[in-house]
Amino acid sequence: DAKKQGGNQFVMYGMAHSAVEEELALQDKLAHAIEKKTLDVYFQPKVSLQHGGITGAEVLVRWFDPDMGFISPITFIPIAEKTGLISQLWEVVMEKACRHVQEWRQLGYEVPIAVNFSAGQFADIENMTERLQSILAAYGIPAGQFEMEITESALMEQGTTEALHRIKTLGISISVDDFGTGYSSLSYLDSFPLDTLKVDRSFIDGIEENERKRQIAELIVSLAKRLELKVVAEGVETEGQRQLLQEWQCDEMQGYLFSKPLQAQDLLQLLQNHSS
Ligand code: C2E
Ligand code: CA
Ligand code: CA
Ligand code: CA
Repeated sequence: DAKKQGGNQFVMYGMAHSAVEEELALQDKLAHAIEKKTLDVYFQPKVSLQHGGITGAEVLVRWFDPDMGFISPITFIPIAEKTGLISQLWEVVMEKACRHVQEWRQLGYEVPIAVNFSAGQFADIENMTERLQSILAAYGIPAGQFEMEITESALMEQGTTEALHRIKTLGISISVDDFGTGYSSLSYLDSFPLDTLKVDRSFIDGIEENERKRQIAELIVSLAKRLELKVVAEGVETEGQRQLLQEWQCDEMQGYLFSKPLQAQDLLQLLQNHSS
């Protein structure tokens, strides 16, 4: 019996040990992938609920490791934030995304993009806005074609207000990501220079079947409209959801119903098919 217990303890200790090692190995691999710029960017189109046209795309980072396969941003973004790698990661994402946008512009397709930002990136706002401007300029992308997505919880962190006002003066739009999930008060809607609310997927899920969910989602859409903000529904997966959102006069939707996140060449193909 004692022997068995000891054995279990050994196994548990062994597992804990390897979990720490695994995390460190992941950090190392991520640092390397950022350094070598092997991260990739995908684009998920947003479409108008009024006319059905593509209005822009959200940029989503992808990491494929030869040993581990695809690793979700849900796993590695927090690691990048924790280890101070997020600004470097963001630069790789920016450069790769903007290079594609420039190519599309040269082919006659103007695609506004939205890039995700983490709270930690606002610590050195001088440097960040400088990099932002110089990358956009390098690829010939007007600030008006660029949107920053920032989660509601990141908005609530210290120092964000001034940072957003600075960013706003550059002519960049600001979008609140995962709206309604940040456990914050609504009063911030008044103190930040916002342009767009993205209704979190959790509020869209189930609106066809569940009356209360439907009421809440409709209320969020009408709140955004009252505040004269653009409103985008995330994670739209069914035709029934689309119809309700259209009824409520939600501006745009994003989700698997229309398209998954795509590689750059597949987005270009979609743009070409859509406009012909
Ligand atoms: P997010 O900003 O809320 O992005 C939307 C996520 O929902 C994406 O997951 C997208 O692939 C997924 N999605 C889109 N449509 C649907 C749908 O119809 N159904 C379902 N079930 N899911 C859908 P992804 O790409 O795995 O990204 C996860 C999160 O990682 C993002 O959530 C964002 O918070 C973060 N992230 C991704 N790329 C970046 C980046 O470049 N920088 C930063 N800071 N964060 C990023
Ligand atoms: Ca987002
Ligand atoms: Ca979101
Ligand atoms: Ca999310």
